[in-house]
Amino acid sequence: MHELPVTHSILNVVLKHAQTNHVKKIHSITLRIGKLSDLEDEWLQRYFDYISKGSVAEGAKLKIERTPVVVKCDSCGNTFEVDVKKPEEISCPACSEKGFSLVSGREYHIVSMEAQ
Ligand SMILES: [Zn+2]
Repeated sequence: MHELPVTHSILNVVLKHAQTNHVKKIHSITLRIGKLSDLEDEWLQRYFDYISKGSVAEGAKLKIERTPVVVKCDSCGNTFEVDVKKPEEISCPACSEKGFSLVSGREYHIVSMEAQ
């Protein structure tokens, strides 16, 4: 159910932007979501359809891009992209250590929107 508050905050940003720019209708919204995020595209769209009813964003299509997971090596500070499907195989390409912290992969943000 955590898609709901996220969808609400996306809609708020979009509506504020629409108001400032005197937009009459929003056709689509492009979102970028980290690959580690468990937000489901389908649920985001469903909730969005539901809460945007009657607003200028009603019927807008969410276009979702997934961004790679990036970590930073605890030993040498190198940052690199990782394949989250094989977490046990992840080691730093520079020093081959296996300790690291997450840089990005869980975030979400609005990239752009198509409006009229
Ligand atoms: Zn390293």
